[in-house]
Amino acid sequence: MHELSIAQSIVDIVGQYVPPAEQERVRKITVRIGAMAGVVPDSLEFCFTAVIHHTPLAEAVMEIEHVPFTVSCHSCNSTSETEPGLALCPLCGSVDTKVKSGTELQVVSIDVDEALTGAP
Ligand SMILES: [Zn+2]
Repeated sequence: MHELSIAQSIVDIVGQYVPPAEQERVRKITVRIGAMAGVVPDSLEFCFTAVIHHTPLAEAVMEIEHVPFTVSCHSCNSTSETEPGLALCPLCGSVDTKVKSGTELQVVSIDVDEALTGAP
C-alpha cells in the first residue's frame, strides 16, 4: 500500500528531528498534501495510526493541510484553482500554464510538548 510507505517515511522524518527520548512528547505532526500528490488523506491517516502504534510516537496526531491544485497562466497572468491534473487555464483556456501548487507532500511542523522538559 502506497500510503503505508508514506506514513513510514513521515515517521522517519520525525525521527531525524526528534531524538528517541523525546518522541513520546510529540503531540502533533502537520503534513501538507497537495490535491495532486497522489495520496488519499484518510488512508494515510489510517496507516499513520497503524505505524505509530506501540512506538514512542503513539500519542501523536497527524494534521493534514490540504493544498488545492492551482496553475498560473502565462496568457492572462492569473493563478487559479482547477481540476487536479488539468493544466488548462480555467479563465482563458490557455495551455500555457505552469503548475503552481498541488503536488506537495511534506512534513511542515512537528509539535513537541515542552512542558515536561524540566528546564528552568
Ligand atoms: Zn489564462
